[in-house]
Amino acid sequence: MLNEELEALLAVQADDLEIRGLEERLASLMPRLKELDQKRTRIMTDIDRSTTVVAAEEKKQAYLRDKITEHKALIDRNQGQMDNVKTMRQATAAVAQMDEAKRIVANEEVELVSINRRLDEARAGLHGFERALEACEAEQVDARSQVSVEQAAVEGDLEAARAKRANKAGFVPASLLGKYDKIRTRRNAQAAWPLNGMACSACDTSIPMQRRNLMTNGGGIDVCEACGVLMYHVG
Ligand SMILES: [Zn+2]
Repeated sequence: MLNEELEALLAVQADDLEIRGLEERLASLMPRLKELDQKRTRIMTDIDRSTTVVAAEEKKQAYLRDKITEHKALIDRNQGQMDNVKTMRQATAAVAQMDEAKRIVANEEVELVSINRRLDEARAGLHGFERALEACEAEQVDARSQVSVEQAAVEGDLEAARAKRANKAGFVPASLLGKYDKIRTRRNAQAAWPLNGMACSACDTSIPMQRRNLMTNGGGIDVCEACGVLMYHVG
């Protein structure tokens, strides 16, 4: 009777160890995905920053172009008014006004040249990052599909192993299963260990003969007082 219970418990434990291995494999895929994501995110950040710079330079360029158009129209208007001046004083004033406007336009055109240069550089930078993103994504296609194929396979195995475990757990008495599950969760490792000669094989502590006999003769399950695992004897 007790041997049957032990056998059922060890069958559950075998599944638990398999599940644990699968969970570790699944977790080991995460750093690979994270690394791929981080590389892509870095380029996306560069693109965002470049896009902001390009937009800001475009805005300055548009503003300056409007100003230049406006000031050139003013010069044209002044030119027109030159024909209508009656006095020398009016003529001098009109010329001075026009010269001032021309100087302003000249300065604005110098500034526009430098904005255009900065904009070209910013656009080239943005283009470079966009190409880098394309290259990165193309390069990651294989790596990502490899990870997702592996992930799907492990998840499938895990689902099957959990179903198998649930089925086998039905054959273990509830109180024993509860004790086992508690130890397994607390230790986050194997919960039931065979006796290794006179000692617990999990912690190597010697077990008193009387308690050992209960396991070796009766097929019972005991708890190691030193490390808290379940112990049994392999007959
Ligand atoms: Zn122990």
